[in-house]
Amino acid sequence: MADLFRSAQVGCTFAGLPLGFHAQVTPRPLTAPRLLHANPRVAALLGLDPADCASADFLALCSGASRLADDIQPLATVYSGNQFGVWAGQLGDGRAHLLGDVSAASGTWEIQLKGSGRTPYSRMGDGWAVLRSSIREYLASEAMVGLGIPTSQALALVSSDDRVLRETPETAAMVTRVAPSFIRFGHFEHWAQSHHEQKALLEYVVDRFYPECWVGEAGARDIQATAMAVLAEVVRRTARLIAQWQLVGFCHGVMNTDNMSILGLTLDYGPFGFMDRFSAGHVCNHSDTYGRYAWNAQPGVARWNLYRLAESLHVLGCDIPSLESCLQPFESQFLQAYHEGLARKFGLSDWREGDSALANEWWTLLETQQADFTLAFRHLARVREDAGPWLALFRDPAAARVWLARYRDRLTGDPADASARRLAMDAANPLYVLRNHLAQESIAAAQQGDVSVLNRLFNVLRAPYEPHPDGRHFAEPPKADTPEVAVSCSS
Ligand code: AMP
Ligand code: MG
Repeated sequence: MADLFRSAQVGCTFAGLPLGFHAQVTPRPLTAPRLLHANPRVAALLGLDPADCASADFLALCSGASRLADDIQPLATVYSGNQFGVWAGQLGDGRAHLLGDVSAASGTWEIQLKGSGRTPYSRMGDGWAVLRSSIREYLASEAMVGLGIPTSQALALVSSDDRVLRETPETAAMVTRVAPSFIRFGHFEHWAQSHHEQKALLEYVVDRFYPECWVGEAGARDIQATAMAVLAEVVRRTARLIAQWQLVGFCHGVMNTDNMSILGLTLDYGPFGFMDRFSAGHVCNHSDTYGRYAWNAQPGVARWNLYRLAESLHVLGCDIPSLESCLQPFESQFLQAYHEGLARKFGLSDWREGDSALANEWWTLLETQQADFTLAFRHLARVREDAGPWLALFRDPAAARVWLARYRDRLTGDPADASARRLAMDAANPLYVLRNHLAQESIAAAQQGDVSVLNRLFNVLRAPYEPHPDGRHFAEPPKADTPEVAVSCSS
């Protein structure tokens, strides 16, 4: 293994946790791998330059053929979780390998392969990931960064002709993911009956990510108070994260507790979706028959998931009423972040009494008029100069005019001047999101060996608030006759 990370320190901190937390497993390399994309921004975070990313060492690392260093053994980690509201027992990294961590100037980053072969936690799975879902995860990670939403990041996308059987035969791919940590609520749920391991996991998480949550001096820590301080912080971060999802019309699709990050990151992109036409009950995952993870259900589900996390801390001696008191602020924290975000999107300097009614009428208008989520916000910034493009988004422009009159009334009471407001609204309302049909276009081309759509879409999504001269097409909603892309858990 040549030293790709010469300017950084490499290790595997997670390996320091007791044996039951992980299994040492060697990734299964892709056959004749092709680097479809390397992310220069994430590479730079790790101290890598473009020449590094073009090297054989980089391809070997990102296709499962080499280690971070000879003495760093890749791991799969164990976790459990609630899937679709039902306790599923042990899950774990069934097709992901933690290669270790890299400490660079930007911080310490875990590097994880996804689609890198079977592990002791694969259950019935084959350990593969297909090109289709890997492209979606790769693009979505960068889209979220561009939108300013906390997320795991993607360093590289590698494909191969290795055959994978899903509903139809497909080909394999691997995404190299990067995050400060991939620890999930499910890691804590896994140890909900084991005081010793739960304490070790909590200490690990606090030391590395929440040092401000330590209560008591070293040697005399108050572990219950510390656990509750961490829980309160996870509640706060999760509330803010979900508010950010809501504000861009993002639906995660599989908000199982094992897909919830202990750091408040968006994690595990599967059958996610950004809404085109607004529908409050939009369900992006075709496998989600009962709409458990619909757009308007996400805040409630997040709170339910936080309860499961809280329960798992009971084993540390935290009493239930105290744990519940940590969860209580969720709703107000969510609403505060959501209202602040809506105020920015509407170009309001603050959120006032009465604005909730204006917002409710907005959502009703969008839904009844089948308006596009992203463009309805984006074009609102220009209704003063020319309301035409905005009105054209609604089936019945007269209905939109009624709302617009109310909105204009509200703006007259706002101190910001028109041009400052327009700029602020453009910075709060993306022009581009990863619409399903766009992901599909880039997938179809990549399956034919053409990565040009992927490249162009990536460049647009990384800076979604500014118009791209050659990005017109990527701002457009799907044509009425475009067949809807059915996205399921199959990945
Ligand atoms: P998900 O909800 O897609 O994040 O995955 C739920 C669980 O299934 C996790 O333990 C995954 O590691 C595992 N899993 C999903 N797909 C596969 C696969 N193809 N092979 C092995 N394990 C998988
Ligand atoms: Mg998962």
